[in-house]
Amino acid sequence: MATNQAAYGFATKAIHAGQEPDPRTGAVITPIYATSTFAQDGVGGKRSGYEYARTGNPTRTALEEAIAAVEGGRHALAFSSGMAATDTALRAICRPGDHIVLPNDAYGGTFRLLDKVLTEWGVHYDTVDLSDLDAVRAAIRPLEDGRGTKVIWCETPTNPLLGIADISALAELAGQSGAKLVVDNTFATPYLQNPLELGADLVVHSTTKYLGGHSDVVGGAIVTSLSELHERFDFLRNTAGAVPGPFDSWLTLRGLKTLAVRMERHCDNAERIVAALSAHDAVREVYYPGLAEHPGHEVAAKQMRRFGGMVSFTLHAGQQAALDVAAKTKLFLLAESLGGIESLIEHPGQMTHASTSGSPLQVPDDLLRLSVGIEDATDLLDDLYQALS
Ligand SMILES: *Cc1c(COP(=O)(O)O)cnc(C)c1O
Repeated sequence: MATNQAAYGFATKAIHAGQEPDPRTGAVITPIYATSTFAQDGVGGKRSGYEYARTGNPTRTALEEAIAAVEGGRHALAFSSGMAATDTALRAICRPGDHIVLPNDAYGGTFRLLDKVLTEWGVHYDTVDLSDLDAVRAAIRPLEDGRGTKVIWCETPTNPLLGIADISALAELAGQSGAKLVVDNTFATPYLQNPLELGADLVVHSTTKYLGGHSDVVGGAIVTSLSELHERFDFLRNTAGAVPGPFDSWLTLRGLKTLAVRMERHCDNAERIVAALSAHDAVREVYYPGLAEHPGHEVAAKQMRRFGGMVSFTLHAGQQAALDVAAKTKLFLLAESLGGIESLIEHPGQMTHASTSGSPLQVPDDLLRLSVGIEDATDLLDDLYQALS
């Protein structure tokens, strides 16, 4: 697999990259290397290249090679959570006095990390609508004495309003200003969108979501082709220790193998649900980048293969009606998180995005968000119809 890996298609890479049969036993599936330390040939000798499992573990390495291959990056690092990956990326790049441009509907946890933690260490931020390139340009602080805007943080599609940002255009702005463009690719996944190919400097993932895909493990990843930056991330991860264990790495790798087929089904089901909601009398607005009238549709069609499994909508009858629908669905489980095989519904204003209340990132209080799973579409539609009736 290693020699001409780039020639293989997405699904082949997801199943084989970094996952040669175990050299000793021939085991087809990468073993769970449940060990904290590795015996050495002698002082300073290298038996396997592994020494201590915070620094490296073979199950984790297999996961990292597979993620790098599907995301089209030279290097990938796996983390204990998406937030650990985000925190490592930002702390490796920024110093006191630096500035970050953050989308005005950023993932709530990313906003909280900046607003409540990194600002205490002297890092500043501004939130902007990333689809407004003039606003992004205006928010960028030029470098002075080495301090200024170091990161443009991008999420596309955004959570929970499914806004779209133009990755290539943002990469150009970042390149001109000396900032790094970081794309949180959790919602799109590398199957639908490859930010590094569009000019992004690094990609961050919550592998908890679609990459793991089965709602049974929490994890994160950073992917980049910039070797020097990768070394800094690796140093910080090893120093601070936010590593995933071998079993979590194995679960995530197991999930990644089926990402291609799962994403096709997530998209199929989401499209059916979007069509049904758009035609439903009770529904006021449907947010989905696949809709021709979505303001980001053209950009999404340019940079995404399909439009994903996340759908948000509002109701004519307002907040209480939205809460009632969330209480009445049976297959759509009322839960935070997303990207698993099972369908979920949630009320962002009081659940995932409660921490943004009163901030510029506040979301509409009558909004519902669906993570459309891979069940039978007709069952999902029936469930939504009964909840809306
Ligand atoms: C869930 C999520 C995160 C955080 O990841 P964890 O694995 O929960 O730490 C970051 N970004 C996005 C877009 C997410 O959905």
